[in-house]
Amino acid sequence: MKGIIDAHLHLNLASQVMHEYARKNKQTLTLQGLLEGMRARKVRKGLLIASFEEGGGNQESMELSDRSHGKLAFAATVNPLADTKSQLRFIEENRSKVAAIKLTPGYLPFYPDDKTCSPIYEYAISRRLPVIIHTGDTATRQSKVKYAHPLHVDEVASTYPEMKIVIAHLGNPWTMDAAEVIYKNENVHADISGLLLAGSNYYEQQIKDTASRISEAIHYIGDAKRIIFGSDWPFSRIDDTIRLVQMLDIGEDDRDKILGANASSLFGLT
Ligand SMILES: [Zn+2]
Repeated sequence: MKGIIDAHLHLNLASQVMHEYARKNKQTLTLQGLLEGMRARKVRKGLLIASFEEGGGNQESMELSDRSHGKLAFAATVNPLADTKSQLRFIEENRSKVAAIKLTPGYLPFYPDDKTCSPIYEYAISRRLPVIIHTGDTATRQSKVKYAHPLHVDEVASTYPEMKIVIAHLGNPWTMDAAEVIYKNENVHADISGLLLAGSNYYEQQIKDTASRISEAIHYIGDAKRIIFGSDWPFSRIDDTIRLVQMLDIGEDDRDKILGANASSLFGLT
């Protein structure tokens, strides 16, 4: 294996929620803190996903990626409820630096299969950019999880079969619903980020249960070709998410693919 790729990272220095999670996970929420954490865990590359909030948006995240000496690729976040055209213009102007587009239904009140998202999908297809769609549980209370059910991704995936989609967080806790969407649609992938929550009284049991849920999803899909490693740092710890992958009831080939090869080919990360 060439080394681990963590395909789901955040670094929004202005976000109080992120600082809170970093503290709970005993992580240093700085570029240096992230890069050192990656090095210590033999993560050779990461995908830094811009926040939809002020302060950690596309410009800021792209600059952090620029300063990472090639360690962090950049994914731009688009908010379909704001001026989509100008956001897509930003991506187009920085095309060579953008590895993916992220949408955050749930955090923002829209369904991914709403027609307001169509221009984003059409652009993504024209530039062969994978689209990462937030699914499942959210880190903030004002979010509305009904928008984030993974079943909404099926409509998008079947309408745009040529677009590569990543279901972020494997639909958590609707893991088997996500598994069905992945099994049915060859263009759909999933990352296993953000599934371990600091502060639980049952953290160790949670890792075990989560490993068995991910394993069940992979057994249902039939292989792990489209399952991608990501931690969602600083919301979850990188080391514990690697431990989670090591606990999966799957073959060594599939484990290696999850930890690096799958993300490498999907996002073109060399
Ligand atoms: Zn995330």
